[in-house]
Amino acid sequence: MICSLGAWAEDRVLDSAQLKEEPLSLTTWVGLLEDSTRTLTIETARSAEMAERFHHERIASASFALGFTRSAYWFRLAIGNSSNQALTRLLVVDNPRISQVDAYVPDGQGGYRVWRTGADRPQTAKAYDNRNFVFALQLAANSQQEIYLRVESSIGLLVPLQLWTVEGFQAYAREDYMARAGYMGIAVAMILFNLMLFIALRERIYLLYVTFVLCAVCALTIKNGMAPDWTLFGLPLNSNEAYYSGASLALSSMLLFMRSMLQTARLLPRVDRWLLALVALYLISPLIYAAALAQVSRIAIVINLLTAFVMMGVALACALKRQRSAYFFLAAFGLLILGGATTTLRAMGILPTNAFTVDGLQIGSSLEMLLLAFALADRINVMRQEKLRAQARLLQTQEQLVETLQRSERELEHRVTERTEELRVLNSRLQTLSLTDALTGIANRRHFDEVLIKEWQHAQRAGYPLALPLVDVDWFKAYNDHYGHLAGDSCLQQIAHTLAATINRSTDLVARYGGEEFVFLAPSTGLDGAQSMAEKLVEAVAALELPHEHSPLDHISISIGVASMRSDAASPPQSLLQRADAALYRAKAQGRNRVASDS
Ligand code: GH3
Ligand code: MG
Ligand code: MG
Repeated sequence: MICSLGAWAEDRVLDSAQLKEEPLSLTTWVGLLEDSTRTLTIETARSAEMAERFHHERIASASFALGFTRSAYWFRLAIGNSSNQALTRLLVVDNPRISQVDAYVPDGQGGYRVWRTGADRPQTAKAYDNRNFVFALQLAANSQQEIYLRVESSIGLLVPLQLWTVEGFQAYAREDYMARAGYMGIAVAMILFNLMLFIALRERIYLLYVTFVLCAVCALTIKNGMAPDWTLFGLPLNSNEAYYSGASLALSSMLLFMRSMLQTARLLPRVDRWLLALVALYLISPLIYAAALAQVSRIAIVINLLTAFVMMGVALACALKRQRSAYFFLAAFGLLILGGATTTLRAMGILPTNAFTVDGLQIGSSLEMLLLAFALADRINVMRQEKLRAQARLLQTQEQLVETLQRSERELEHRVTERTEELRVLNSRLQTLSLTDALTGIANRRHFDEVLIKEWQHAQRAGYPLALPLVDVDWFKAYNDHYGHLAGDSCLQQIAHTLAATINRSTDLVARYGGEEFVFLAPSTGLDGAQSMAEKLVEAVAALELPHEHSPLDHISISIGVASMRSDAASPPQSLLQRADAALYRAKAQGRNRVASDS
């Protein structure tokens, strides 16, 4: 074995006895051979003619970034143990996404033990139980050996090759799993919380978020080499096809989530249709990956990257339209893209391999999940505020309405009161008018008739007599004919005024009975009392001395017929009038300007 080692004199032999706790990157320690036809066997790879074709990197780096290549690559590592005791070292290929990783490790009997592992092979094929590909190297005291490694991948080929002490690697593995568990914890919490929100609020957006996180977690679990050996539609879950498909589903659910959150259908309708087309493309992409991942993996990475930029652009456009959710989305997505971009650029060999670039996607994804969950919570806040504002507006409108109603009610009430008062005044005026004689201003016939009935009934109940003097102006036709109708009217007014002034008992009523006839009603008055009142009236009118050429007295005079009777149920009030009229007739007959009583 030591002899054969001499054949590769240019190989630097790595002394594993010097290895510290820190891992050693092997990029400058291994020889690299490209097998573009993927036909080399371990025998040919080890053969003398192949020996010179292995070449060495001069500058140390974290990994071999071989890009998207269909070639297989062989690595040859010459390793020794200068110490006096046997050592175990771990050869670690720190990338679970390499489709095939075959290790040829000396078996101590001159032959090789072959480990055929890789993302496209089951976890159980692994030489060492870890999410990465780890091979234990047993190094006897003061010995040297060559290890061969063959890698091939359907996606970008990135080979970080490291040598670890067993203790160092175990400590690292613990931390590494803790980091993944932490991420998983955040994701599960977000999934459960938003699932509960979905159940409580029945809003599709929460389900889209849950779907997105679920797909993202699955894709990352596969990416990290931690998925179990299940098969999905005939594909091993751990394979690169499943990884790319998971990423596609995560991206499509993220696109749907973004559409819903940023309301792109309303804000950017044309872009929204393209987003839906992109979702459709992502949904069919698993079929394409299953058929020809190796052929499309490079373009798929480019499309994924472009999608990230499209989403950023859409979020930016919505943010410019002052869509509040877009700010959260931008921040959240910015972080994810930063993580995703570092991971992708690392896969393309543009960025170096380090803790941030390896876990970039995971860190970005955790922060993104948290920020988006926060945005969803903020959405509830916004909705609540909107509801409160709407309620306040409603309340205000209602208050205004009530106020307006109250005001118009008050106005109406006021107007009704005004109108009622006007009506009352009008009514009373009307009533006064209807009971008053227009010419003389004393009570009219209608008023007299009403009072007569009332007084008649009252007198009947009380048992007192009711007197009724009936007045007629003497020779009045002649007066009219001589002085004219207007003078006649004025004469009637003066007589009415005199009559009203002479009658001063408040219970007595003077009324114009019709034409030049007047009447007055004197309750509780007997015939004698009434007669003397009538005589006073005759005198009062005579005292006016209103000239009347065609009267034998040369002035206006009146004649009065007086009747007084105790009313009884049998006789109507008219009987009193008839008697007074009869008496008046006698007064006229006796020569006028006098009083005649009902005998
Ligand atoms: P006598 O002494 O018999 O009563 O004679 P007389 O002329 O007064 O006769 P009578 O009572 O029949 O005449 C009534 C007249 O009174 C008729 C009419 O010209 C007049 N007269 C009736 N009403 C009015 C009125 O409202 N205004 C005026 N100016 N004259 C009236
Ligand atoms: Mg008359
Ligand atoms: Mg007369």
